[in-house]
Amino acid sequence: MVALCRGHREGLPVFGWGEAPSTLLTRTQLREAGLRPGGADPVALLVFRHFKPYAHETVTELFSVHRAKERRVPSPAQRAAIAAALRARRTCRTCRVDVGYYVPTSTGECWSCEGGELADPDPMTELATEVAA
Ligand SMILES: [Zn+2]
Repeated sequence: MVALCRGHREGLPVFGWGEAPSTLLTRTQLREAGLRPGGADPVALLVFRHFKPYAHETVTELFSVHRAKERRVPSPAQRAAIAAALRARRTCRTCRVDVGYYVPTSTGECWSCEGGELADPDPMTELATEVAA
C-alpha cells in the first residue's frame, strides 16, 4: 500500500507510485529491460511512502529509456575474470583459504589470521572438540 507524492525535488519532477510515464524507468527496471543508465543523469524521481509498518519515504531515481544504453553483457572470459577477482578478494594471503567474505584490503588477511592466535580458525571444529570431550 503506497501513497502518492508529487511536486519537484532538487529540480527533478517527482512522480508518485504508478504515476510515472512508461518511458521513465528505475535502475532496476532498466536492468530488467536489458538497459543501463549509461552515465545519463536521472530525469525524475519516484517518491512513495509506505503505510504501516513502514512509515518512511522511498525515493528512487527515474531514467529515460531514450537515453539509456544497452547493458553490456560480459563475455564468458570476462565473467571468469570477474569470478577470479572476487575469489581473490575472498582469499586470505596468509592461509590461502577462500574464507567466503571479502578480506580487509588493509591486511589482506582473514579474521583468523589477522587476530593471530587469539582467533578461532573454525568455530565448528572447536564445537566438535567440545562435544567429543
Ligand atoms: Zn587466513
